[in-house]
Amino acid sequence: MSDYYQTLGVFRDATADDIKRAYRKLAMEYHPDRNSSEDAEAKFKALSEAYQILSDPDKRAHYDRFGSAPAAGGGGFGGFEHIDLSDALNIFMRDFGGMSGFDGIFGGRGGGDMRRGQDVKVTVRLSLNEVVTGAKRSIKLKTMGPCATCAGSGAGKGTKPVPCGSCGGSGEVRRAARSVFGQFVQVGPCSSCRGEGTVIRTPCEVCRGEGRIKSERTVSVDIPKGVSTQNYITLRGQGAAGQRGGPAGDLIVMIEVKGDDQFTRDGDDLWLELPVAFSQAALGATLTVPTPHGDETLEIPSGVQSGSVIKLRGKGMPRLGANAVGNLNVRVRVWTPKSLNDEQRRLFAELAPHEESGPDQDGQSFWTKLKEALGA
Ligand SMILES: [Zn+2]
Ligand SMILES: [Zn+2]
Repeated sequence: MSDYYQTLGVFRDATADDIKRAYRKLAMEYHPDRNSSEDAEAKFKALSEAYQILSDPDKRAHYDRFGSAPAAGGGGFGGFEHIDLSDALNIFMRDFGGMSGFDGIFGGRGGGDMRRGQDVKVTVRLSLNEVVTGAKRSIKLKTMGPCATCAGSGAGKGTKPVPCGSCGGSGEVRRAARSVFGQFVQVGPCSSCRGEGTVIRTPCEVCRGEGRIKSERTVSVDIPKGVSTQNYITLRGQGAAGQRGGPAGDLIVMIEVKGDDQFTRDGDDLWLELPVAFSQAALGATLTVPTPHGDETLEIPSGVQSGSVIKLRGKGMPRLGANAVGNLNVRVRVWTPKSLNDEQRRLFAELAPHEESGPDQDGQSFWTKLKEALGA
């Protein structure tokens, strides 16, 4: 196994920030969306694996001590198992996917082929429950698709694109130009064939020589569990078809997680406000509470104070790209009735004198506490 520190090019005493910065820089260089060289994918996976271990204080401590990642079952990736590409992409998306959006990270690509089709952005809205389980969506796309009549070439029936006469098929023209420093040769795209090297004498009648037509198709996308708003998934080559057989653009699926009526999300953790009655707070109670993983039993201890938080471990949100789940924090709110019926009024009145005398666990009654608080 290679050394994780070496992989990221950081010292063994690197800070968490150093590690994050080093990973981001290298991962952007080798991200398969940007780098199409053969070893880029393997390198990207190795970087993500190193980052996954070194960015987690517990796993890093384990690695420093034993020279390996914690064994499987420790809430992370297994011992010497290597992560696969989708894990790696998820790790990257989790920590950097929402930083500045797609355009900020990858900028305009294109660059090379003028015929390349446009990227298509779609937004998928998910409920909190779908984020917990992961989701599969069929997306109906109305965008350019290849023309079936000419098989994308743009050439009319029975004809083929022919080499451009102006540039001899190279797509480039050289022109002598003169500047104050002397004469030099300028190379630019051929204007007759727009740099393609071929021209179409008889354009296809269906697409008028474009090689693509307006079309509609359905793309299915798997959304991993644990995503957040502003994460995105790139489906390469699933965007608009290119002109005359040029490469297709990408489909970029932007994630939007809908707000939830019950739960508030804070990273991997969830919060739930739970009203309880006076008697339940005083006597304790066993309640059933909702979680995105199904109903759970919650023990309210007797004497619970309003505002106390009871933690349900592992009942929060799954962590994107990791085998870990956050907690559900239940905040207890003691509910005061706004109106009382006669019976309730009688019972509370009967209770009142006892509140004054009854000592609490720490030997104080409500009234002594109140007097203290008021400085009396
Ligand atoms: Zn056509
Ligand atoms: Zn040409």
